[in-house]
Amino acid sequence: MAELKADVLVLGAGMVGISAALHLQKRGRDVILIDRHELAGEETSFGNAGIIECASVFPYMFPRDFARIFQYATNSAPEVRYKFSDLPAFLPWLVRYFLASSPDRALHSAMAELPLIQRSLIEHEALIAEAEVPELLRRTGWIKLFRSDATLANAVKEFEQAKHYGVAGEVLDGKAIAVREPNLTGEFAGAVYFPAPGFVPDPGALAKAYAALFKRKGGRFMVGDARTLEQGSGGWRVAVSGGAAMAPEVVVALGPWSDLVFGPLGYSIPLGVKRGYHLHLAPRGNAVLNHPVLDSDLGYLLAPMNRGIRLTTGVEFARRDAPPTPIQLRRALPRARALFPLGDPVDAKPWMGARPCLPDMLPVIGKAPRHPGLWFDFGHQHHGLTLGPATGRLLAEMITGETPYADSRPFAVERFG
Ligand SMILES: Cc1cc2nc3c(=O)[nH]c(=O)nc-3n(C[C@H](O)[C@H](O)[C@H](O)COP(=O)(O)OP(=O)(O)OC[C@H]3O[C@@H](n4cnc5c(N)ncnc54)[C@H](O)[C@@H]3O)c2cc1C
Repeated sequence: MAELKADVLVLGAGMVGISAALHLQKRGRDVILIDRHELAGEETSFGNAGIIECASVFPYMFPRDFARIFQYATNSAPEVRYKFSDLPAFLPWLVRYFLASSPDRALHSAMAELPLIQRSLIEHEALIAEAEVPELLRRTGWIKLFRSDATLANAVKEFEQAKHYGVAGEVLDGKAIAVREPNLTGEFAGAVYFPAPGFVPDPGALAKAYAALFKRKGGRFMVGDARTLEQGSGGWRVAVSGGAAMAPEVVVALGPWSDLVFGPLGYSIPLGVKRGYHLHLAPRGNAVLNHPVLDSDLGYLLAPMNRGIRLTTGVEFARRDAPPTPIQLRRALPRARALFPLGDPVDAKPWMGARPCLPDMLPVIGKAPRHPGLWFDFGHQHHGLTLGPATGRLLAEMITGETPYADSRPFAVERFG
């Protein structure tokens, strides 16, 4: 049995783990990246909507208005659904999410994340250039469509606030929507167009391109089960195929599965999940979708991926490992067909993933308080594609003792007591 030694083990080869591995490597660390799959980016980082959301200054917090909460409670909102039988499993987490969503705490989360959001596209651009995959970044921006005057007015208000933080955008009327997206059909109150965000037409391929860059630069990628992690006198050890990987430092970047490692080590961290689905459909005829388009009031998004038009759903609260219940996808499908000319599905069945979330919608980044050499990097919620490289840089700076480019204190695990 081979014993492979490195400076750092990174557990999880999603966008978050790969990015941390690359940033550590850039700082001279010998890194072994470990995943249960043979290829990187096969889970949540494969199935997202592909938007590098550098204009999304305000995180997705729990709503505070009674009408919306009533809609959620009665499962009648298209963008959020919960599985009633799983309610006891996630209700305590939902209460924490609600409490963390008070206006002042929501603003704290937004301001803590702002430097990362502002850095997000810059860090992707650098990695994309190094990985030589310019075709995986499109400069389209994205569009949020609104069917009702009230929801449009709310969005415009939020956009006006976001402008204070440098967010560029444009409010579109029906005519302007038709200019940007001639193939959309429907009655729209208007839209907000954000030109700056990047769009990745194959998020799984981007994760794989970053992993290939890591390997090209001498990094080792191994298949192994992170649950075998143990601490010995010589540091951390994980069983990998054909032997074991060992290093004095280890990074837990297992996204929604991070609890499988921090739990047995005795950490009680409120990691929850917001599940989501996608399905690809072929566009009909010559129809072209130029940007990702969120049909906000109807709770789904269409994104022009390489594989076809990817229809992604909003949030489903359910146990991470409960069987898929793609009800939102079924409901969204006829609405999406009415919006844009969609043909046959390209996928045999819907994909399901789980956004890893902490109640304050901030990731956990930093040192584990009770285990020397153990580092956390998970909980990137709705923004893991966006924030992977920016948080990878922050974590690598912390591990190597550089001055972090952003204040890392809001991301410390100690905030949960
Ligand atoms: C429908 C949907 C749409 C989204 N849209 C966007 C978007 O447009 N923009 C955006 O920024 N974000 C978006 N997100 C969120 C984003 O996809 C996630 O935040 C991000 O992918 C999380 O990355 P990660 O690396 O932490 O997790 P993952 O990509 O899930 O990676 C975790 C890795 O850990 C590995 N692993 C798990 N268990 C073990 C084990 N025991 N041993 C070894 N390895 C293990 C897995 O195989 C996996 O490779 C979306 C999410 C969903 C669900």
